[in-house]
Amino acid sequence: MFINQGRHSGWIEVVCGPMFSGKTEELIRRLRLSLIAKQRVQIFKPVTDNRYSEEHIVSHDDQKFLCTPVSESSEILEKIREHTHVIGVDEAQFFDGEIVDICQVLANRGRRVIVAGLDQDYLGVPFGPIPELMAIAESVLKLKAICMVCGGLATKTQRLTAETKQVLVGAKDHYEARCRACFDPELAVGEDDRPIDTAKNTDSVTRQISG
Ligand code: ADP
Ligand code: MG
Repeated sequence: MFINQGRHSGWIEVVCGPMFSGKTEELIRRLRLSLIAKQRVQIFKPVTDNRYSEEHIVSHDDQKFLCTPVSESSEILEKIREHTHVIGVDEAQFFDGEIVDICQVLANRGRRVIVAGLDQDYLGVPFGPIPELMAIAESVLKLKAICMVCGGLATKTQRLTAETKQVLVGAKDHYEARCRACFDPELAVGEDDRPIDTAKNTDSVTRQISG
């Protein structure tokens, strides 16, 4: 399934896409397979992502995997154990550019590095170090979610509140997946800043999936 680069070569895999596209699920799936194959695994995430758990990576579907939260990407190198073969990094868009060098160093040292993160921010702009990681990776998977408005393939993360800072940690309270046509980066909300009521849209998507 993945590139077989021989016994001593490492490599970098990127799993990207909008929120709710299954990046964390896919990361967990790959890490579980590695564990079954008795490979030693370490997982990291930025402390910024404390949505569901401080010390797990957690998918929106409530799958979990124990991880080490780090405040800077340089901590990853410090914390790698000698016999770790597979390194997973979730929410990599929150790290600064140094994460790129760190992934290179680890791959050059023979490690398999799997990096998951948002490829675009809430404005549809390439997010942090992910574009560079995509360029240097041996393998890139761009996942799609389902657009909560029309049921098409969603490649964008729609922010549902008027907040304009790039990093606003949240899940369904602040964001939903949308396709290019339904994505509106300029979306503004009512006077009291309430998230938009998405119940109607969710129903329409349920109808499309079941119908
Ligand atoms: P990501 O890490 O990309 O944000 P997760 O792996 O945490 O995604 O969650 C994926 C899960 O999100 C899906 O299996 C599904 O249960 C849920 N989900 C919620 N909204 C959507 C959507 N619009 N499209 C697809 N999956 C969704
Ligand atoms: Mg995730």
